Amino acid sequence: MLFDIIIIGVDMKNIYGITFEELENYFIEKNDKKFKAVQIFDWVYKKRIKNFNEMRNVSKETIKEMNDNFYFDRLEIIDKRIDTDVSKYLFKLNDEEKVEAVVMYHDYGTSICISTQVGCNMGCKFCESGRLKKRRNLQTYEMVLQILMVEEDINARLSHIVLMGIGEPFDNYENVIKFIDIVNSGKGIDIGSRHITVSTCGLVPKIIEFADYNKQVNLAISLHAPNDEIRDSIMGINKVYKIDKIMDAVRYYISKTNRRVTFEYIMLKGINDSTKCALELSNLLKGMNCYVNIIPYNETSHIEYKKSDKDTILKFYDILKKNNIGVTIRREFGSKVNAACGQLRSHYEEG
Ligand code: SAH
Repeated sequence: MLFDIIIIGVDMKNIYGITFEELENYFIEKNDKKFKAVQIFDWVYKKRIKNFNEMRNVSKETIKEMNDNFYFDRLEIIDKRIDTDVSKYLFKLNDEEKVEAVVMYHDYGTSICISTQVGCNMGCKFCESGRLKKRRNLQTYEMVLQILMVEEDINARLSHIVLMGIGEPFDNYENVIKFIDIVNSGKGIDIGSRHITVSTCGLVPKIIEFADYNKQVNLAISLHAPNDEIRDSIMGINKVYKIDKIMDAVRYYISKTNRRVTFEYIMLKGINDSTKCALELSNLLKGMNCYVNIIPYNETSHIEYKKSDKDTILKFYDILKKNNIGVTIRREFGSKVNAACGQLRSHYEEG
C-alpha cells in the first residue's frame, strides 16, 4: 500500500479556510488562470476529494502548486449520540480542544448547529457552554469541517446551518464571515443564505457590521428578557450593550437587509415568564419586522434555573399572539442526548 507523506510547511494554508474569492486572487496574483479556483472548489466541495492528487482535469503543475501551498485536514469525531430526530457530535480539534455540533432532522430538511469558539466569554448564567471560559476562536476551516465531517458521517447533505453551538459568533466575526462565504458560495458547499442563521447575544457593533455586510443571512438575537433589569441579572453582556442599543442596531439591520429578525426567548421559571414580561416584550417589539422564538429551557445539572411549565409557556405565547407579534415555540430536541449548548462537551469532560 502506498502512503502519501505530507509535510505541512509553516506557510501552507488549510484549504477549508480559503474562500473562493481568495483562491481566485491567489491565481490572479500568480498571473495564472483564475478559472482554476472553480475547478479546485469543484473537486474539494462537490466531489469531496481529500487529496489534490485525485484531481483529474487539472494539470500536474497545478496539483503540485496546490500540494506545495495548501493542505487538507480533518477533525476527529470522538463521541456521537443518536436519537430519533437529533444526533450530537463531539469533535476533537488538533490541539485536543473539544467542540460539538448538533444535527436535527426536520420535515423541511436537515439542519446543523455548529460551534464557533472553544468555550465562551459572554457570561449567560443559564448556559452550559459558558461554564468553560473562551480558550480560543475556531478557525474558519474548523467550522467548515464540522459541516463536511457530519455530511460524510450521515452520507447526506445538510440543508440548513445555524451558528448556535458553543461560542459567540460575533466574538469571532472575521472567521465566521469567511465561513459563511465558503458554505454559501455556489462554487463551494452551496447552502443558500436564507438557510443560514447567525445567533448573537447582542454585540451591537457587530450587528451593525453584519447589516453592512448585507447578505440575506438570518439574524437571531438571544434576547431572553423584556427589560434591562431582568436581562442584567441573567446575561453578562447586557452590562455592556443595553436593550435599547440592541433594538437600534436591529432596526438598522432590518432597514439595510429587509430581513425579518428572530428574537430568541428562553423561558426560565419565575425569572422571565410572567404575564407582565409577555406584555412588556410585546410593547418592545411592536411594529418591528420580527418574530419571537420561545425556547423551552433545557435544564442542566450544574445550573439552578428551571424550565417554565407548559401552561405558562402557552399563556406567554397567547399574549404575544394577541398583540400581533409573530411567535413560535421551539420544538424540543435531544434532551436525551445532552443536546443543549455545551452539554455533551461538559458531560464528556466529567466522565
Ligand atoms: N452566543 C450565541 C450563540 C450560542 S447560544 C447566542 O447567544 O445567541 C445559542 C442559543 O441557545 C442562545 O439563544 C442561548 O441563549 C441558548 N441556550 C443556551 N443554553 C440553553 C439551554 N440550556 N436551553 C435552551 N437554550 C439555551
